Amino acid sequence: MGRSEDLFERAVKRIPGGVNSPVRAYGAIGMAPRFIERADGCYIYDVDGNKYIDYIDSWGPMILGHNFPAVRESVLKACENGLSFGCATEIEVEMAEFICEHIPHVEMVRMVNSGTEAVMSAIRAARGFTGKDKIIKFAGCYHGHSDALLVSAGSGVMTSGVPDSAGVPKGCTQDTMTAVYNDLDSVRALLEEAPDQVAAVIVEAVGANMGVVPPKKGFLEGLRTLCDQYGTLLIFDEVITGFRLAFGGAAEYFGVKPDMVTYGKIIGAGMPVGAYGGRKEIMQMVSPAGPVYQAGTLSGNPIAMAAGLTQLKYLYEHQEVYKDLEAKGQKLYGSMEEILKETGSPYQVNHVSSLGSIFFATEEVRDYTSAKASDTKKFAEYFLHMLKNGIHLAPSQFEAMFLSTAHSDAVIEETLDKVRGFFTK
Ligand SMILES: *Cc1c(COP(=O)(O)O)cnc(C)c1O
Repeated sequence: MGRSEDLFERAVKRIPGGVNSPVRAYGAIGMAPRFIERADGCYIYDVDGNKYIDYIDSWGPMILGHNFPAVRESVLKACENGLSFGCATEIEVEMAEFICEHIPHVEMVRMVNSGTEAVMSAIRAARGFTGKDKIIKFAGCYHGHSDALLVSAGSGVMTSGVPDSAGVPKGCTQDTMTAVYNDLDSVRALLEEAPDQVAAVIVEAVGANMGVVPPKKGFLEGLRTLCDQYGTLLIFDEVITGFRLAFGGAAEYFGVKPDMVTYGKIIGAGMPVGAYGGRKEIMQMVSPAGPVYQAGTLSGNPIAMAAGLTQLKYLYEHQEVYKDLEAKGQKLYGSMEEILKETGSPYQVNHVSSLGSIFFATEEVRDYTSAKASDTKKFAEYFLHMLKNGIHLAPSQFEAMFLSTAHSDAVIEETLDKVRGFFTK
């Protein structure tokens, strides 16, 4: 038994399931998770002395690679002044200005501590602003673990095989309507069903929590039109896609303007940060400016702001990274697709820029139902093969691979060799 196994044995006695977030568990694989000691660039090192090429990247924040020097230094420097004041600071103003100046659809922004909080608060603001209660989400889209959004919620929930969460009262989800991703008719039907009652349509502009499911041409544009038609706000949950597909996220990448947007992951560069923002008239509803209450003892924490703002500034000033990530994505995922073809493997690769997944499904994956048709046993075999060969993937069929700028061409080639190895076995 290795140290990871030892640690896991201790962990399960004191932490539910041995992990502080279910997506870290290797339940679907049937082994103890790797316990990580450190990471640098595109590499991650476990406590057993193994080195892996990492495609989890802390689920997205590490777009510049692990332990990026400028981010690390900004954190160390900020620490010298104290860890938290619970009072207003200059860097919060700088963060808000930086985001609003460079993202056209964000006129005001509020910092929180996680993606979950960002989405929960954005929904509350949308309801407060419109005076309507219902929301529409899509099956397979994950928007954090707040009660109202734990309906057909994608990866973590899918992998554990629990359709929805226990402990969520019916009353909490009765205003949550669920549509089919990439299916505008399903959205229109729900809007017709509850005319003048839908506060917001919330969507992952690229589905990235049921594996990667890109929006079909016209889907996001169609949502924009439907929302305008029915007096409903359009919220892009950009917790994964924000600052990743382009500096302006999926909204910029696809050229569709949401009324509100939520951020997480990259915006904190590895520190616990989330944010929500949008049109000024909506954000002015949030307390203490307006009647929608939302608060946070550690929100806008100076260390977290230092890390996040440093990363955002780097990304903004080096927008060539987006071309680079697009090319890396094409190389990795495009070649994976070729390998499948060459070896006569009947599976699917979906990708948008640096985000991608291989689905062990025989039909095109375009929504939750087609994603769920994947052979998760086959995925588990693939995962184990990759892990044994030094490639660290998310232990679930329904998670994305995250490329960072630290994944060099040589590293991508090495990864592809291992993929080829699996499919020619
Ligand atoms: C990760 C994620 C969240 C939740 O963020 P946490 O920081 O884990 O609370 C919300 N929405 C999307 C799209 C996510 O990927």
